[in-house]
Amino acid sequence: MTYLLQAMQTRVGEFISLRRDIHRHPELAFEEHRTAGLVADKLEAWGYAVERGIGGTGVVGTLLRGKGNKRLGLRADMDALPIDEASGASWSSTHPGVMHACGHDGHTAMLLAAARQLAEQGSFEGTLHLIFQPAEEGGGGALRMMADGLFERFPCDAVFAMHNMPGVAQGHLVLREGAAMASSDYATITLTGIGGHGAMPHHTADPIVAAASIVMALQTVVSRNVDPLQAAVVTVGALHAGKANNVIPAIATLELSVRALDREVRTKLEQRLKALVAAQAQSFGVSAQIDWRPGYAVLVNSPAETLFARQVALELVGEEKVTLQGPPLTGSEDFAFMLERVPGSYLLIGNGTGDAAGACMVHNPGYDFNDDNIAIGAAYWVLLAQRFLVSTEQTAN
Ligand SMILES: [Zn+2]
Ligand SMILES: [Zn+2]
Repeated sequence: MTYLLQAMQTRVGEFISLRRDIHRHPELAFEEHRTAGLVADKLEAWGYAVERGIGGTGVVGTLLRGKGNKRLGLRADMDALPIDEASGASWSSTHPGVMHACGHDGHTAMLLAAARQLAEQGSFEGTLHLIFQPAEEGGGGALRMMADGLFERFPCDAVFAMHNMPGVAQGHLVLREGAAMASSDYATITLTGIGGHGAMPHHTADPIVAAASIVMALQTVVSRNVDPLQAAVVTVGALHAGKANNVIPAIATLELSVRALDREVRTKLEQRLKALVAAQAQSFGVSAQIDWRPGYAVLVNSPAETLFARQVALELVGEEKVTLQGPPLTGSEDFAFMLERVPGSYLLIGNGTGDAAGACMVHNPGYDFNDDNIAIGAAYWVLLAQRFLVSTEQTAN
């Protein structure tokens, strides 16, 4: 499939410039007005029917061609993170405290490069929906677009998305059938006891001692309640209590991140965690209130669509640059919600390893998207669209 890669290479300069332009002007969740406007204007100029303002700042560009009745959705994310950039790149962020530290500038540029190629030279039969979503970083932009009728207004038979991955060789494609990214839930535990003098603890109900015990007890949820062959994470990322050495406070709070790669494990974590905290609190004579906030779902790649996505990867870059079944990740991704509604697959593209550019991990102030991936990523989308959107009448004959 080198002709497609070569075709993308010849036009990639425009999209490297575009990526760096987006990188210079990063926008946080649901504030992607400039980026969304840029995306929508480009798609319109290339002949797409464009809908703006879906789920806030989301954009969908649609291209119909021929008689085929298949419908494909390709998703890119557009939002940046609240991080001060330290990449040193000449195209660094011009917005203090905001940066494209997850490469969503690159994902947007890759899909736009594919959009132009497909509009000008794409041979496909059917309906192509290009979905540019806001607020992937914790804001649930995918859910907002779906609540705004994404799949009713733009029905898709399958959806696909791609994310860059530092630590994987540049341009290497990693696929996975089944659970690929974790669910991510939040819990705030508030322990209320009786404050008092640090010299007279017997007149108090000390929430700090209860909190310390609960932090340790929580470690047993993963080690004792979850099947050892399943993955789960319970992290206490914040613990706040007290102000002085000689005062026992009345309140302690804990902030938790809870993750799983299986829906049943996710439910069990919530049940065990709530029961354990309640029992622990009671044993220390303090009361516990748990504010449980469900976050992103487990991201599950469907078998048939993942098999198809693998075939496209093998055809494009060859088997030495494809991992057919990569390991799951404990990070989370709101494309999971789209995959709960429509079958599809989420794949990774290596951003670089070792000392190479792009090896710096995402969400790090030194991170930058690897521009060498724009041609490969775009060629992947073009080939996938052309292989997916074929007339069923023609293939039946
Ligand atoms: Zn991210
Ligand atoms: Zn990301």
